Amino acid sequence: MEPPGGDPVIPSAAELKAGESQPVEDPYYPEMSNPEVDALHYYLDLAWDGTTLAGTTTVTIRRAAPADSVRLDLSGALLVSAVELDGDPIDFEQSGDGLVMATGPLEDASTYTLTIEYSGTPVPTPAPSLRRDMTDGLGWVVDSDGTVHTFQEPYGAFTWYPVNDHPSDEALYDAAITTVGDDVGVFNGELVSAEPTATGTTNSWHVDEPVASYLTTIAIGPYTEHTATTPSGMDISYWLLPRDEGLLSNLETEGSAAFEWLEKHAGAYPFSTLGVVIVGGSSAMETQTMITMSRGAASRPDAVLLHEMSHQWYGNSVTPLDWQGVWLNEGWAMYMQQWYETDTGLPPFAGGIDRWRRYDQMSRLISGPPGDYNPESFGDTNIYLSPAMMLDEIRERVGDAKFEKLVKAWPAEHENENVDRQTFEAWLNDKTGRNFGPLLRKWLDSAKTPR
Ligand SMILES: [Zn+2]
Repeated sequence: MEPPGGDPVIPSAAELKAGESQPVEDPYYPEMSNPEVDALHYYLDLAWDGTTLAGTTTVTIRRAAPADSVRLDLSGALLVSAVELDGDPIDFEQSGDGLVMATGPLEDASTYTLTIEYSGTPVPTPAPSLRRDMTDGLGWVVDSDGTVHTFQEPYGAFTWYPVNDHPSDEALYDAAITTVGDDVGVFNGELVSAEPTATGTTNSWHVDEPVASYLTTIAIGPYTEHTATTPSGMDISYWLLPRDEGLLSNLETEGSAAFEWLEKHAGAYPFSTLGVVIVGGSSAMETQTMITMSRGAASRPDAVLLHEMSHQWYGNSVTPLDWQGVWLNEGWAMYMQQWYETDTGLPPFAGGIDRWRRYDQMSRLISGPPGDYNPESFGDTNIYLSPAMMLDEIRERVGDAKFEKLVKAWPAEHENENVDRQTFEAWLNDKTGRNFGPLLRKWLDSAKTPR
């Protein structure tokens, strides 16, 4: 099935400024992404008929380093038929999960559009992880009922669109998703229009703040949107398949409570829209402004929704520069989660923060210390529990009142930035007038869990 072929949505030069980044090579996954190019905006024109994905991606780029060609990540399962640079056909070559386009040298301070046509049946990519909820692989997954969902941390967006698949290259997005029958496409941001076609629907989505590729999401199925307004007036949309309608009432209650608690403790919500899409699989992910949760995760009486929502502040608005810094995401989210559990009387995760040391120690044996983990064991307990325990020790040292200010100041003062350990350490020392370097080294670098 061909894409509908509408004109791509491309932001103005002034708007594109928000998509500018300084991409870096990942220390753990250097085979992914390309620090020579900075993607500013993606327009994804996608058509899915249940078997074949036909896409035209128009990506606005600028050069980040001198080069004669541009490489983006794209799964070898998707066959590229044409590439244009500013409307003129250019040569290209696919190799492995890469697409190299013969752009010639690009000028500094100019922007260019690459228009890439491709199609195929997407295949998930293996996760560099031992986690049980990642055994389906990363990226585009078709569930047994024919619905589509994605989980793609630390990478995997390249299984469905050409992308500089790295957190250091955040970009703006628009998407038009054309589906057949009762299926509709769900994406990040705001649903701008839902247009009937001869055989289905085209849903158009707009994202007004930069997003890292691991935080994009797509879900396709016979979804219905339900919108609930929190007591403070925030609209949260819940996208549910018919089989999951029974989850709505609990989701609305938990979503409102989590949102209000987070605005009280983390500060004003950093984005303009918020939604939750319930999918298959067995994981949950903080995809930006549209949280992706498996129905299993959404059915449990726990604080997973609060956890994923907290990442909108800690991880999505303030994003790690590279995957060595993922403990910044999960340490803050786990800290907020256990705080919320204590406040609301929910069952404490793994027995509560005072009992986490032995789980952390077991994880360090396999996966290494959180500040320099084993890249083949991405997302293990080591990057979750111990950075949260570290934050708790910082709380003990500075006192509750000061710490609660820090909790709000970190996302507020680094909004839409990429950060790393040095950023955090310098900021923490500056805010407190102390030297927390030794404490960070103890928690992040030790082979054994600190006592
Ligand atoms: Zn998390």
